[in-house]
Order: sequence, then structure tokens, then C-alpha cells
Amino acid sequence: MSESQNNSVLIEKFVKYLDENGKRRTPERFKILELVLAFNKNFSIEDLSHSVESQNFFVSKSTLYNTVDLFVQSGILRRVNIENGSCHYERVENVNYIHLKCEVCGKLKFVKDLNFMAYMNARKFVAFTTSYYNLMVYGICNDCARKLKRRSRKSAADKSKRK
Ligand SMILES: [Zn+2]
Repeated sequence: MSESQNNSVLIEKFVKYLDENGKRRTPERFKILELVLAFNKNFSIEDLSHSVESQNFFVSKSTLYNTVDLFVQSGILRRVNIENGSCHYERVENVNYIHLKCEVCGKLKFVKDLNFMAYMNARKFVAFTTSYYNLMVYGICNDCARKLKRRSRKSAADKSKRK
């Protein structure tokens, strides 16, 4: 999916959220959304405020906070708490990966599965609004599998030597 296609999916998602919750489609909200989608990484309200000002577009801090809250509620953004208590935001799609966790070494791998994502994005749960999902698949990585194989071959060889 290209970047702009991806953005239009998120914009649609926001429109749907506003309509379903009886909130107005103000130009201000869409302008802020456009600036939010231009960030390619985590950002803070401070970053967003600079970005807004650089566009010669002025809104109060409380409007920014309220609007970003709407993005979080509609499932476009996720709040990430940084250790020192400050708070950043990231796009939800960044966490919509399948996580593969090796049970031996603990290594984590991320894979994107478009079919699975399409399925999850269409999946509705009763009395629940999904903001993001996080699928963890447990197993064994190739490195560990190779090591275990070598070890078992070695112990089999040791056994046959002892005979
Ligand atoms: Zn491993």
C-alpha cells in the first residue's frame, strides 16, 4: 500500500468515527490530521504545535490536545508513554504487525501480513471499538533451531561412541 493510499484509509477511518459519534467534520480537525500524517515517526504535542505554526495556522494547545484525543479514540494514533512521564504519539498501523517471538532466545521479529491486516481491520467486536491489535506468535527462530539440531546430533554421536 502506498503512503497516500494508506493516509486516505486513515482519513476515512476518522470521518467514520466523527459521523458515528455525532462529532462535527471541522476543517481544523482535518488540517491537524494532515499534519499528523506527515510525521514519519513518533511525535509529541510540542512537535505538532511547531508543525502547526510553521503552516501559519494557529490553534490553541487545548484544541491540539482535544483533536489528538479524537485521533486516539478513532484508532489512528496510539499514545506512547515515554519513561520520564512525557507522552508521544505514533500511528496505529506501526503496531499492527504480527510479532514472532522465539521462546528460546526471546528474539522478536515483526512481519506484515496484508491479508491478516485486512481481516483484522474488518473484524468488529460486540460492544467494543478496536484501536489497535498486537498478535504474538510463539515458536523457535532458525538460529536456535539450528543450534538445537547440532546439539542433538552431537549427543547422538556421543551416545554411539559410548557403545
Ligand atoms: Zn531463538
